[in-house]
Formats: sequence, C-alpha cells, structure tokens
Amino acid sequence: MSYIQIKSVSKIYESESGEKTYALNNVSLSFPNRGLIGIVGKSGSGKSTLINILSSLDKPDKGEVLINGKKISKLNKNEIGIIFQHYYLIENESVLFNIMLPSLILGNKRSEAYKKAILLLEKINFPINLYHQKCADLSGGEKERVAILRALINDPTILLCDEPTGALDSENSIKVMEILKDISKDKLVILVSHNMSLTNLYADRIITLSDGKVKYDERKKNLYDVTINKNIIKRKNRNQWSNKITLSNFKKRFTRNLISMMSLFIGLVFSILIFGFSNGSESSIIQSSYKQFDYGVLTLSNQYKENISGSKMSLVKETRPTFANIEPHIDTFNKYEIENNFDALIPPSTNIFLGEEKLDVFTYKPIYSFLNKYVDKSLLINGYFPGSDNLNEVIVNKKGYEYLLKHTNSDPLNFVFEASFAREFHYSTGEIDNPTISDVFSYKKYFHIVGVVEEMDFLNTPRIYYSYSALVNYLFDYPLNNLSNYLERNISWYERVATASNGEELSSYSFRLFLKDINDKEVLGKDISNFSSSLVLDSIPYSLGTTLLDLVKAATMGMEIFLFIALFGSGLILGIVSFSSYSEDRKNIAILTVLGAKRDHIMDIYNYENIIVSLCSLFLAFLTSPFLAMLANKVIFNITGFSHMIEVPFIELSRNFIFLIITMIISTIFLAVISTCLPIIFAGKISLKKELADE
Ligand code: ADP
Repeated sequence: MSYIQIKSVSKIYESESGEKTYALNNVSLSFPNRGLIGIVGKSGSGKSTLINILSSLDKPDKGEVLINGKKISKLNKNEIGIIFQHYYLIENESVLFNIMLPSLILGNKRSEAYKKAILLLEKINFPINLYHQKCADLSGGEKERVAILRALINDPTILLCDEPTGALDSENSIKVMEILKDISKDKLVILVSHNMSLTNLYADRIITLSDGKVKYDERKKNLYDVTINKNIIKRKNRNQWSNKITLSNFKKRFTRNLISMMSLFIGLVFSILIFGFSNGSESSIIQSSYKQFDYGVLTLSNQYKENISGSKMSLVKETRPTFANIEPHIDTFNKYEIENNFDALIPPSTNIFLGEEKLDVFTYKPIYSFLNKYVDKSLLINGYFPGSDNLNEVIVNKKGYEYLLKHTNSDPLNFVFEASFAREFHYSTGEIDNPTISDVFSYKKYFHIVGVVEEMDFLNTPRIYYSYSALVNYLFDYPLNNLSNYLERNISWYERVATASNGEELSSYSFRLFLKDINDKEVLGKDISNFSSSLVLDSIPYSLGTTLLDLVKAATMGMEIFLFIALFGSGLILGIVSFSSYSEDRKNIAILTVLGAKRDHIMDIYNYENIIVSLCSLFLAFLTSPFLAMLANKVIFNITGFSHMIEVPFIELSRNFIFLIITMIISTIFLAVISTCLPIIFAGKISLKKELADE
C-alpha cells in the first residue's frame, strides 16, 4: 500500500452565475514515502489546489486523501513540512528562531530546538554570521534555505514545496534543488514548479496536470517505500515561543503601545486619585470641621408638628424645652453646660464698631468660657486667651484678623472696638388699664482683641468670640427698671429671660448648650444624630461639616461614574489597538497556525503584549500618583482650605493598601485580557488559505 493515496479527489469552484470550475477533477494518485516528485502544468491547471489539499489548507469536495492509511485531517501537523513560494518566515525574528519555531511550538525545550536547528544549518553550510540575523535582511536564496530547514526541524515524512525556486536565480535554484534532492533520499518531497528543466533534472517522477486532471505521469525511477522508524513525537503544552514573539512585537509597535499605555495610564491615575479622594476626603472634612472655634456650641429646642386645619400641610413649631422634656436625657446633657439662650438680647448680628465705623462683616458669637477645656486651645495662632471671663477681652478668628489688618493697615490687637445692641421688650401684665410694661435692653461694651484663632477656611467669615459666662454675669446684674418698679422687686434681664414663657421670643425658643470637654468633639456628632425624641440638638459648625460631607459623597459618586467611563474608554483603546495589531499580523498568525501553533497560544502573544502595556501603565500610575495627589491636594487646599483631601495608598503601606495594589494589578490584567480576547474572538477565524495564497 502506498504511503499517500489520493482517491478520486475533486475540488469545484462555483462562480456567482452558477458556472462550475473543476480546480481538480477526479484525480487519483499514490506516492511512496520517499523520492522527489515534481508537479508541473500551466497556470490554472490545479497545482496549488493539490498542494493545498495535501497540506490541509483546503478540503476536497469529493474523494479523500489517506496518508499512511489515516485520513489527512487526523494527521499530526508535524508529519508534513511545508515550504511556501513566498517563504513566509516571521520576518522580524532571527534565522535561528524561525528554524526553531516549529519545534518550540511542538513543546520542545529551547535547548533541544536550538541543537537541532544548528545541526540542520551546519548540514547545508549556512553562513554562521547569519544565524542571528533578522530574516527580513536575508537574500531570497537564504530565505528559501531557512524555510526548508524550518520545514525539516520536526523531522516530517513529507515535504511539500510550492514553487521553491520561483523567485530565485539559477545558481540559488540549483543549490535549493540539491538540498531537496538530498532530503528526498529518505523523505517524500512533493514539489510544484514552473521550472521544467530543473524539475526534469532532479525529479524522480513528474506529474503534469492540465485542467485539473493528470495529463502525464512520468516515472524516471521506480520508487519504493522505505521503512521508517520514527518515534511519534508527543505534543507538550509548553509555550515559550510566544513570549519571544510578544517581545519583538512590543518593540516593533512601540509607538502604538506607548499611546495605549498613556491612555490607560490616565485612566489608572484618575482611578487612584478618585480612590484617594474617597479615602481621604471624609476624614479631611471631619478634621477640618473640627477646626471651628465654636464647634462645641449648640442649641436645644423642642420641635413639634402642628396641623393646619383644612390643609394637608403642618407647621413645625419650636419652643424652649421644659425641664420635664430634658430630664429623661439627663445622661446626655451631663456632658454639656446648659444655659438660657440670650440670642434675643445679644444676637450674632450685634453691631461692632471701630471708632465711628460700623463693621458689618463681623458676627458676635459666644464661647462658654475661655477657661478650662471649653475651647480648643490648639487653634490659637496669635496673642493669648483671656485669663478670666470678661466681656472686654475677645478672640477673633483669622478671617476677621486678616480683614482688620487689610482694612486698617495696622495690628488689630491694638484697637478698641465697641459692641452695641439695643431693643425694647414688653412684659404683659394681664391688667386692662396697664397691659404692658416696656423696658429697653441696651448693650454697649468696649473691648479689644487679645487672641487670634485659625479656623476651617471654607465658607468662613470674620467672627468675634466673647465669653458667655461673662455675659451671664453681666445679665444677672443688669436690672429692668420699669418691670422692677412694677413688680416691686429687683428683676434682672437674666431672670427675665429665664422666666419668660417657652413660646416667647425672649426665650429664643431654645437653650444654649456648651460641650464641657472640647476634646470630645466626636461625642457631639453622635449625640446630635442619635436624638430621636422631639428634642432637637443643633450645632451650626457641625451641620456645616455634615453638609460638606454630603457634598463630598455626591462628588465621589460622580467621580466614580467618571472613573468607570475612563477605565471603559482605556479598555476600548487597548482593545482597538490590540485588534489592529492582530489584524495587521494576520499573515504571521496564519504561518504560526500552519506551523502547528494553537489558537490559545497565538492569543497569548496579544494578551502578553497588552499585559505588558497595562502593567507598565499601572507601574507608572503607582509611581506618579503620590506626586499628582500632592499637587492636587495643594490646589484643593488653596481653593477650599481642606488639606489631605486625596490620600493615595502608597505613602503608608498598610494591609488595606497592599490589598488595593493586588486588586488593581489583577483587575488591570483582567482588563488587558478582556480587551484583547473579546475583539479577536468576535473577529472569527482567519482563513489560512486566503492569507497564504500567492500574492
Ligand atoms: P495553479 O496553481 O496550477 O495555477 P490553481 O490550483 O491555483 O492552479 O487553480 C486551479 C483552478 O481553480 C483555476 O482555474 C482557478 O481559477 C480556480 N480557482 C482556484 N482557487 C479558486 C477560488 N478560490 N475561487 C474560484 N476559483 C478558484
């Protein structure tokens, strides 16, 4: 039985008009497993079709091809070596690598493949100085010889050659034919050629095709099968060769890769900064909002809903709580000094004068006492705190200090200011002929500034902080003349407010609370948010902090959406770039496939290339983001006064941050692989026949 049996093989092409062309028409041939067989014929006679069918690039429409009794499709790829007319070397790689490639693809070790390649090169006296040359730099004759050696490295039984001398001069053609002749002593060499004289000279048998049929079959020599003792080489799943190609591809496409690297870099830097923002902004805002001198000052009121008859709406009414209201929560209130609220007498809008000039920008705000732990003494940046609670010495915040400095051009600590407020209040007697008693509350205090405190800059305005305890003492000693006369006993403004009814304006509808220990700033937030009765604890500095936090949370959410878009965009760019590389390399991919490379391993080339790009971007992003964060923090600080809003992970390497780095590495690799594989998978298979067809 012959080694190759071509049994009634036909290949039919149908044109659009339905006309049938027989590229091969019922061809039956058989070949032994050695000898040089020339296939000749005019252009269009079916030579390429026959060779394509023998190399499995094409399938017959009728009939079958058996090799060693097995169907050709079941055959090991390394049984057949193919030499193409256009060599189809991986031009970018060296002579040695090209020859080693089929062996490496088969899973052989590098050292093994290297040894075999050197043996083959030496056998044909290939110039040693060209071993490491890129194939692109070789002459046609040299390329042809490299292509032959590549086809031989896995020791195939059959060598298929499509016009091996087609592009060579006569001297090189003879060299090549000599080599093929030598090979044909123990292998079957099937050769398609136009060169009749050379074929006549070297071939053992010449088959002439015409219109897809065998016209002549001329045997110059009787050929017989030889016994082959061949170990069946088992394919191993080793894949070192693809790394080498990845690296060369990476170098070859450096500019393009640099562009995708930059785009991913931008996406990654933004994600790190946004992560840093969500990581740092909350504590930065909380810490900043603690930097308000009156952070421990609150109001406590009693709120309840009052339905409006005939309407679905209701009014929220506020009154000063009764002691019965407060009592159940006494544990909470033990942490605070509780005082009446004297806002009706001394509102924050109390007039501040410097000489004749009224300073409208200032607000006049209470601090319980400048003594003990009622104030955060670390905020003082200039001057000192009053040694006793009095109304003549006040503290100003930095905004106020800077305002005065600019306004007066000299040190505000030297000036005398005046705070004044006057208002008439009425007392209802319940008598018909004398229904109300009126008294004027008139406040006029000269004071000077003894200290300056630094506060959170954001939304801050000039403020003067006075001692509430001093105000309380002052109000104790300040009588209401007319009401005292009427009641025939001394009544002070302190008592007047304390005994006012809880719904009366003088009560300010609330109590004033002051945190006893300002170091307990966190307690204040918890107390405010935990209150669920009708009592309402309120603090303007605290509310400012929570409002800012809400804003920051909303901003973070917006940024996260942006981050998603940025990463998606970067992935898209990676995908487009790698897909265009893949499309550009179609020919090389076809060559690798014909040499036996698996699709997965070929895909690895593009995956690794993108993984290199991605990891470089990630490394660059890790490296630069601390500096960019510093820069961004500086800008944010200059605009808003918040420091350390972006806390990027790489300054302190805690366990969380290591976890983050690992997550980022994994997700970046994932992004790289997905953006490589998806477009390639969707692009479908490459047609080998089309890619490797004659140009
Ligand atoms: P050769 O290699 O001897 O020049 P081919 O095997 O390439 O001849 O072609 C044999 C015949 O089949 C020719 O008539 C050619 O036009 C036709 N043919 C080959 N490939 C195709 C194809 N893909 N579609 C249509 N006709 C084809």
